[in-house]
Amino acid sequence: SGCWARAMAILRELEEKCGTPIGKLRQVADAMTVEMHAGLASEGGSKLKMLISYVDNLPTGDEKGLYYALDLGGTNFRVLRVQLGGKDGRVVNQEFAEVSIPPHLMVGTSHALFDFIAAELAKFVSTEGQGFHLSPDRQRELGFTFSFPVRQLSIASGTLIKWTKGFSIDDAVGEDVVAELTKAIERQGLDMRVAALVNDTIGTLAGGRYFNNDVTAAVILGTGTNAAYVERAQAIPKWHGLLPKSGEMVINMEWGNFRSSHLPLTDYDSALDVESLNAGEQIFEKIISGMYLGDIVRRVLCRMAEEAAFFGDTVPPKLKIPFILRTPDMSAMHHDSSSDLRVVGNKLKDILGIPNTSLQTRQVVVELCNIVAIRGARLSAAGILGILKKMGRDTVREGEKQRTVIAMDGGLFEHYTEFSKCLESTLKELLGDEVSESIVIEHSNDGSGIGAALLAASHSQYL
Ligand code: ADP
Ligand code: MG
Repeated sequence: SGCWARAMAILRELEEKCGTPIGKLRQVADAMTVEMHAGLASEGGSKLKMLISYVDNLPTGDEKGLYYALDLGGTNFRVLRVQLGGKDGRVVNQEFAEVSIPPHLMVGTSHALFDFIAAELAKFVSTEGQGFHLSPDRQRELGFTFSFPVRQLSIASGTLIKWTKGFSIDDAVGEDVVAELTKAIERQGLDMRVAALVNDTIGTLAGGRYFNNDVTAAVILGTGTNAAYVERAQAIPKWHGLLPKSGEMVINMEWGNFRSSHLPLTDYDSALDVESLNAGEQIFEKIISGMYLGDIVRRVLCRMAEEAAFFGDTVPPKLKIPFILRTPDMSAMHHDSSSDLRVVGNKLKDILGIPNTSLQTRQVVVELCNIVAIRGARLSAAGILGILKKMGRDTVREGEKQRTVIAMDGGLFEHYTEFSKCLESTLKELLGDEVSESIVIEHSNDGSGIGAALLAASHSQYL
C-alpha cells in the first residue's frame, strides 16, 4: 500500500542521512585531531575542553593499603573498597555496592544529592569487615569518580563546568564538587578524606594501566560517552604550571561535546537536541551514547506512525513519550534472533502499547535499530582513530613493536554486542591490517572504580 511505501521512504531517507562511509569517518577523525590540538592550545579554544586531570603518573602496581572509591556517573552510583597489596599482592580484596539515584535528586539541589551519596557511603563503610585493614592512626581515603565536566584546580579539587546526561542541579555549577562531598561526609559524621577527584575516563585509564602497561587511552560508552588519553606535557600549550617529572599529563577530552560539520545529523537528532536539558551541547554524545539511541529510534517510529500510519490509523500514544524506549530495549530488539522476532513484538507491545505487529513491521524496527546503532558505533571508531592520530599511533613505525591498548568501559559497549562488534570492525577497517595488529581494545570491567582508588592511594596524605 501507499502507506508502506511511505514508511519505507522514511526508513531509506534515515539510512542515507545516517550514512558513515569510510571517507566521512576519516573526515570525522581528522576533525577530532584538529579539535584536540585546538583544545590543548587555549582555554575555550575548541568544543573539546581537553581538561587537565592533574594525573601525571599512572598506577605502577606498588600502591598499598585500604582505599575507597565512589563513582557518580549516570543512573547508578557505586561505592567500592579495595585492599591493595603492592606489586605481588595486587588487589587483595575488594567489595562494592551499587545504588540507583532517585530521579528527583538528579534535578534537585546539590545539598540533597551529596547528602544522599554520603549517607550511602557511610552505610557502606559501616559494613567494613575482615579482609580490609586500615593502618593504625590513619584516616580513610577516597577516590571520587565524578563523570561530568570539571575544571580541576588540583588532583583533589575542581569546579563543575556543567551537568550532562539528564542531571540538572543549578546550584552545583561552578562549585567545587570535592568541597560539596566533603561537607556532606562531615554531616554524616564520617571520617574520610577525598584524596583524588577523577573523571570516569581517567579512572578507567588508571585501572587499565594497573593491569596492563600498554594502556594509554580510555573510552567510555555508557549513559554518556567520553575519552581520555596520555598526552606529552610539552604538547599542552595552555598548561602554564611546572612540567611534571614524568613529562606526561592525562587529558580528559570531554569528547561528548565534539561536533563537526562532517557528523551525519538528521532532523530527529536536532529535535532530540532542542528538547533536551542541554540544547546545543554534547552533540557527539547525543548520537552515540546509551542515554539517547533508544530515543532516536522512538522518534523515527513516531514519524512513521504519524506520516505513514505505520502502526495503523492512529498514532500509539506512548510513542510520543520521550525516553520511553530505552537503549537496552532497543538492543534487545536488535539482537532478537527468533524467527518470528518475538522479542521485538513483545517490546512493541509492552513498552509502546502496540499489539499484534506483523513480521514485516518487526523487521523494519530491527533495521531501524541497526541504522541508529551502526552510525553510533562507526562514529565512535572514528573518534578513536582521531585520538590514535594525535598520539602518533595510527601508523606502524619502522622496527618498532609498539602496542597500544585502549581501555573501554560502559554499559553500552559491554552489553550492546552489535554496537561493540561494529566499533571494533570499523576501527580495523580504518587502520588497516598491519596497524590493527598493534591496537587492542580491552574491555575494562569497571576499571574506573579501582582506578579512582589507585589514584587515591598514589595521592595519599601519608606518602
Ligand atoms: P553510567 O554510564 O551511567 O556510568 P554504565 O556504564 O553502567 O553507567 O552504563 C549504563 C548505560 O548503558 C545505560 O544507561 C544504557 O544506556 C546502557 N546499557 C545498559 N545495558 C544495556 C544493554 N543491554 N544494551 C544496550 N545498552 C545498555
Ligand atoms: Mg560509569
